[in-house]
Amino acid sequence: MLDSLFPWLLLPLGLALGWALGRRARTSTAAAIAPEQLGGLLTQLASDDPDQAIAALTQVAELDHSTVELHLTLGNLFRKRGEIDRALRIHEALLSRPGLAPDMQAQVRRELAFDYMRAGVMDHAEAQFERLVADGRYVTESLDQIRTIYEQGRDWEHAIAAARRLEAAQGESKRDLIAQYECELADEARRAKNVDEAIRQAKRALDEDPGCVRAHLMLGALYEGKQDFGAAAQAYLRAFQLDAHFLPDVIEPLYRCSQKTGHSEGFLQFLADAKEISSSSLPYVAEARLLADEGLDPTDRLAQGLEVRPSRAVLAQFLEVLEKQPAVIAAGLDKPAASLHRALRRMMESSPRYQCGNCGFSPRQQFWQCPSCKRWGTITPIDEAMRLG
Ligand SMILES: [Zn+2]
Repeated sequence: MLDSLFPWLLLPLGLALGWALGRRARTSTAAAIAPEQLGGLLTQLASDDPDQAIAALTQVAELDHSTVELHLTLGNLFRKRGEIDRALRIHEALLSRPGLAPDMQAQVRRELAFDYMRAGVMDHAEAQFERLVADGRYVTESLDQIRTIYEQGRDWEHAIAAARRLEAAQGESKRDLIAQYECELADEARRAKNVDEAIRQAKRALDEDPGCVRAHLMLGALYEGKQDFGAAAQAYLRAFQLDAHFLPDVIEPLYRCSQKTGHSEGFLQFLADAKEISSSSLPYVAEARLLADEGLDPTDRLAQGLEVRPSRAVLAQFLEVLEKQPAVIAAGLDKPAASLHRALRRMMESSPRYQCGNCGFSPRQQFWQCPSCKRWGTITPIDEAMRLG
């Protein structure tokens, strides 16, 4: 196994060993590690026997800065290679050694905590990070790792508590992150069909961060589910006001709410505002739909939309209207129009609907934590992949 590892391993290890030997030559204190021991270590690594090398290393009589560095270098290399058991053995043995200076002890403990994380033994990792915090070492990093552990475990209550500790230690607001965790709790309540608790929880998210678009969208859906269409429309509208990128996510729900409340003027006003605020073609598509609902011909509005905001969404809607027009049917053009319409819809359906503003990841569905870069609240709808029509 070490055949492939060896050339890669040897270079940084060799550098560390060279540094240790150089350091030894410059100091007059007793040697912490003899050159022949180092040679033996390299031989064991070269002869594909890393466990013997670990045994030799952990038996080194005295620990000074250079030998600790050697342990850490080797341990980290094993961890990077995914050989967590070997990394753990080195770091655990080193930490149990008496006489380790406090700064070195903290360094080893930090590595050990990352080993446990990689091994998936999260309670051990957390305990080591907590010990570092208690010792006043690597405090913000450790608190952030504790937060990550709870986040990965989807333990949102503890993740909130960890984020608050991090906020206090770092002096930087984590309110937007905490609001996302509150939204996760709201989502859990919603999935458990506990609508009132979900609403309370979404409001807690807004207490934390009034600009949390996700909480407003969630409240909109929850109120809509309770047939409170006025409150739902207000929540959807607020989400759009906070971030116009979310127009594709709110336009259809707002249309539904206006149908239920009979408040079509409010929806028309929203569309007029949306034309001003956003560069989307969707308001034209929605207006055409309203005209069609009233039995009026929407082709002029769609032609205007194509002129001002050309998009696949307007074109698809236009073709759908055209294929039903008597003159088009009489001319035998309804079938070509219908196949063009279907092709466009298929193209739109296969396009990504969302995109992460941080890393560019483009999923088909909304994720509030980007699966690629792990940032929260960075994924927004792509306008072109509209949902209306
Ligand atoms: Zn991302």
